[in-house]
Amino acid sequence: MPTPQHETVVVDGLALAQDLRKQMAEEIGRLQNAGRRAPCLAVVLVGDDPASASYIKGKRRACTRIGMDSREHDLPGTASEAEILDVVTSLNADDGVDGILVQLPLPKGVDANRVAAAVDPAKDVDGLSPTNAGLLFQDEPGLYACTPLGIMEILDRYEVPLEGAHAVVIGRSQIVGKPVSMLLLRRNATVTLCHSRTRDLAAVCRSADVLVAAAGVPRMVAPDWVRPGAAVIDVGVSEVDGELVGDVDFEGVRGIASLVTPHRRGVGPMTITMLLRNTLDAYRRRTGA
Ligand code: NAP
Repeated sequence: MPTPQHETVVVDGLALAQDLRKQMAEEIGRLQNAGRRAPCLAVVLVGDDPASASYIKGKRRACTRIGMDSREHDLPGTASEAEILDVVTSLNADDGVDGILVQLPLPKGVDANRVAAAVDPAKDVDGLSPTNAGLLFQDEPGLYACTPLGIMEILDRYEVPLEGAHAVVIGRSQIVGKPVSMLLLRRNATVTLCHSRTRDLAAVCRSADVLVAAAGVPRMVAPDWVRPGAAVIDVGVSEVDGELVGDVDFEGVRGIASLVTPHRRGVGPMTITMLLRNTLDAYRRRTGA
């Protein structure tokens, strides 16, 4: 049977991100013209993982471009959990710091949950502290994880209907799968959260109106996993033969889905933008600006 053809909208996450960053830059400009200091994001990098260093460089560049201050605290890969916690404690106490981000992954032997729990929830712009995770669970305002916020922003800007829709999320991590499931549920989607033990994942995905792929498995979402007309959000980033690829067979899914995010200029730019927005929100709440 021939596959039904759909006009597929390809999300331009970069354009959306630039639009939101321009608005934030204008707001920071207004605050500074009124004599206030700029918001400040502190990033903690432990070790010399090149991917982490590159992510941090991108985050700091994004801060600078919108007039936000950023500070970097580098620790050697041999740093103990106690040393990392000391840095977090001093940033918590620093009144000039609005947002704290501890770049993951942390070295072996360091408990990432304990480090996340040490970050002052008012400065926890990654949304990983138990307090902010709990606020999300309770449908209360808080600082939520950046990638899920970016995904919701894309779905809203592209007017993807969520009320009563079946949303299938692949991946149950604390930074993507679980929080995006909560945000989709909050919007009255019926959410199925899948993971590596899910039986017949392809069939579950085929029943999705909205499919969020966040497993980190290159091109796992094949065209026959996608219901014609579904909206497909590709979060995955993997390196295959020196090339970055997503979790979705983008070319195969084009023409079947109603909307798809490309693995470049898709979710990635929105994740950083939501980090900036969380930092600005944290600054506003802390300073009353
Ligand atoms: P993670 O912590 O490794 O979690 C991966 C999740 O996917 C786990 O829940 C795992 O299931 C599930 N999974 C793995 N293989 C699977 C399979 N074959 N079938 C079904 N489920 C499977 O990863 P993460 O931090 O959430 O990140 C996921 C991907 O998104 C990665 O590629 C990461 O690089 C990317 N990412 C991108 C952005 C962005 O801004 N674009 C931001 C964050 C992450 P189990 O729990 O059963 O092991």
